[in-house]
Amino acid sequence: MTKSYPQGAGRGSKADKSATTSLHPQGAGRGSKADKSATTTLRAAIVGAGIAGAHCAGQLAAAGWEVDVFDKARGAGGRLSTRRLGQGWATLGSPFISAQRDPFRSVLRDWARKGWLEPVRGDVLQGRATVSWAQAQMQNHYRPTIEPSQLVRQLLGDARLHTGARVAAIQPRAIVLEDGHVFNDFDCVICSVPTPQAIPLLAELPRLRERLSDVRYRPIWSFLMRWEGGPAANVIKFDDELLNLAVRQTSGGSDLWAVHSTHEFAEAYLEASTEEACTRAASALLGLLGLPWPVDVEAAHLWRYALPENPVGSFWLSDRESRVALIGDGIAGAGVERAWESGLRLAQALVQSSEELAA
Ligand SMILES: Cc1cc2nc3c(=O)[nH]c(=O)nc-3n(C[C@H](O)[C@H](O)[C@H](O)COP(=O)(O)OP(=O)(O)OC[C@H]3O[C@@H](n4cnc5c(N)ncnc54)[C@H](O)[C@@H]3O)c2cc1C
Repeated sequence: MTKSYPQGAGRGSKADKSATTSLHPQGAGRGSKADKSATTTLRAAIVGAGIAGAHCAGQLAAAGWEVDVFDKARGAGGRLSTRRLGQGWATLGSPFISAQRDPFRSVLRDWARKGWLEPVRGDVLQGRATVSWAQAQMQNHYRPTIEPSQLVRQLLGDARLHTGARVAAIQPRAIVLEDGHVFNDFDCVICSVPTPQAIPLLAELPRLRERLSDVRYRPIWSFLMRWEGGPAANVIKFDDELLNLAVRQTSGGSDLWAVHSTHEFAEAYLEASTEEACTRAASALLGLLGLPWPVDVEAAHLWRYALPENPVGSFWLSDRESRVALIGDGIAGAGVERAWESGLRLAQALVQSSEELAA
């Protein structure tokens, strides 16, 4: 298993050393129940370092829990991850972070004061070149001005992040990695991955699994494209069946844009090659912007699980007996705010139940 620890999020190098030794592969647990109640440091494993998992992890760590977060990717972020470029970075995931209410609204204002986000104001156009452009409004929407993955990483606080760690199964109080390693003796295991990806991990937990059967996700194809000319805007909302949105990137050059397809486009091109999807999207874009010259497509990503439809509708789901809980947008509802809040609400509930969990 590859492990890496984020700079500036989590522990310094000294503590990292203790991090690598404090995991308990199967058979190397913490000893008897009596030992445990004497020390009572509760331990959680979290699968997924998107904003839901990272926030839950950081909150539990701040309450004194020992928290290990496992993500299959090379870093934290999930659908708020960063794409590194030759010069700078770009985001092919969620272009915006928005808040409808507190506490997330205050958090976003604080992040904006720190220079991590900027509000989306003006320069938003809606329409298509062949019909007309209109000025559009986006209330309470922010764009990251630092890498969005950094926003997620700082939420981890003192939790330990294990990257390149794909979880293959969740069991009562335990997780099994794809490479066969078993980590057990957790007081709680939290799964924060999109529900279609959670279902195969929950084979031994049929009661939880059943609760997820109605949740569906819709896909989005996202592209990084460069073009010159076109309307003077930072955000373009297309009136179109194929393309939904183009967002000028804050890094990587002012002619670099993230272009997001509609769900219908992504469903039609779900099994297409990247080249085919890029060609179709680039040609649609030329028409929408009225550009006479070709656009460059620098990267593309298919998000099979971009946004949930009919989420479970509670902040979290849990099975007390097995000590397994589920969070994320498939449980709490579409969008960054709901995912962040699901992590917070579960962490608060677990901290409140600490005595019961330690018993
Ligand atoms: C193109 C696009 C545009 C969007 N636009 C918006 C928007 O404008 N506004 C908005 O609010 N939201 C938007 N969203 C949705 C938003 O990004 C998500 O709701 C939110 O980021 C979900 O966070 P999460 O923590 O629940 O899940 P994720 O961010 O998906 O995190 C799950 C993590 O689990 C990891 N993982 C999965 N399986 C395993 C495994 N087996 N083992 C280990 N790790 C695993 C993944 O690598 C990932 O890091 C958009 C999403 C996309 C893709």
